[in-house]
Amino acid sequence: LRRYDSEYLWHPFTQMSEWEGAENIIITRGEGSYIIDTDGNRYLDGVGAIWTNVHGHCRAEINEAVKQQVDRLEHSTLLGLSNDRAAHLAKRLIDIAPPGLAKVFYSDNGSTAVEIGVKMAFQYQQQTGNKQKTKFIRFDNAYHGDTVGSMSVGGIAIYHEVYAPLLFPTIMAPSPYCYRCTLSPEGDCNSCGLLCLKELERLMEQHAHELAGLVIEPSVQGAGGMIVQPPGFVKGVRELCDRFDVLMIADEVAVGFGRTGAMFACGKEGVTPDIMALSKGISAGYLPLAATLTTKKIYDAFWGDYAELKTFFHGHTFTGNPIACAAALASLDLFEKERLLESLPPKIAYLNQRLHGLLELPHVGDVRQEGMIGGIELVVDKDTRKPYHWEERVGVRVCLEARKRGLFLRPLGNIIVIFPPLSISMDELALLMDGIEASITAVTG
Ligand code: PMP
Repeated sequence: LRRYDSEYLWHPFTQMSEWEGAENIIITRGEGSYIIDTDGNRYLDGVGAIWTNVHGHCRAEINEAVKQQVDRLEHSTLLGLSNDRAAHLAKRLIDIAPPGLAKVFYSDNGSTAVEIGVKMAFQYQQQTGNKQKTKFIRFDNAYHGDTVGSMSVGGIAIYHEVYAPLLFPTIMAPSPYCYRCTLSPEGDCNSCGLLCLKELERLMEQHAHELAGLVIEPSVQGAGGMIVQPPGFVKGVRELCDRFDVLMIADEVAVGFGRTGAMFACGKEGVTPDIMALSKGISAGYLPLAATLTTKKIYDAFWGDYAELKTFFHGHTFTGNPIACAAALASLDLFEKERLLESLPPKIAYLNQRLHGLLELPHVGDVRQEGMIGGIELVVDKDTRKPYHWEERVGVRVCLEARKRGLFLRPLGNIIVIFPPLSISMDELALLMDGIEASITAVTG
């Protein structure tokens, strides 16, 4: 199997052999917070099946819902038809979404959910007489996916270098990265009064006439480095969007479905975006599913009496797949039955305590947390905040150490990511944090 994998499989981003010294791990089973490989080794899943896993692996209730759905209907189409699971799920999503969101447009991955939001915002402005409003604000360090459209509105520098000629023009705003603030004179913006919001205000004032929308990962920029935004930032962005008549597109692909401790990150600051992109946790990691939610006002511009074109040019083959929707419905049932959100505060508090404990280590420069998301930034020198050179692969080395201790982790450069299943037990969380602490010590001293 390992030979098949290395000979025939093209992995996303890194090839497994690049994790030098490591044997390819091939997972065959999942059980609660653990994944199990071909040799029977068990790994605590510290990144929750790449940030999707909400209730643990192979939850009996979701397995059952999926099995039942396979026997009833595997797929039809939402193009000219509906299916019962997709319709039910749309209603349940609107019930839990920030108030004011009223319509659900399905797709099958996070990048596309964002790209749909961008296209919706663009076409909305065109169809409501704002023909000059064609541009988008994106944030530094933002990750919205890797399709051409979602890369265009993201802020990952390497994508904008490699694919530059393919990307559409945007206006980039600085994001709040308190540990490495470039705006505040002290280089630490925790007490700066949100200078990044002031800079955003300046940009919006300058470009309002040509701005269709703004795309933001509310609360936490995930793939950019688990960068947590200061309180008030999301609300401030909403207020600026209202003031300058710019549509706010919230990408809750990573932070949605309980990850921040609230069902949706926008809800934490009482914000309703105009458009909200969801994926990952939506089906609890079971099947590819995504949704772009929007308001009745935007929907009516496409389908209301006065709408010109009466169509939105988007619709994928697997849109609203009933098996994926059945998994999502079973997941929402579990949220309710297990009072999952209510169960999180002790885990969040424990994570907080353990993360702060890590600051004692000589090379842990910053720890960041929002709910059940954690980020540990490793640095060469804590005083100067000098980052490790990427060639030192310090993040990868820590994750390989963690592997020896029965943990599966995946870093973001020098940042160790914590994104376990929300259902993780306190004992498992303790194991995870012990393993991370020991692995960081083993690599960085
Ligand atoms: N937006 C955010 C915030 C994400 O974290 C990701 C994936 N890491 C995406 C979009 C893209 O999702 P997908 O990989 O499913 O296309």
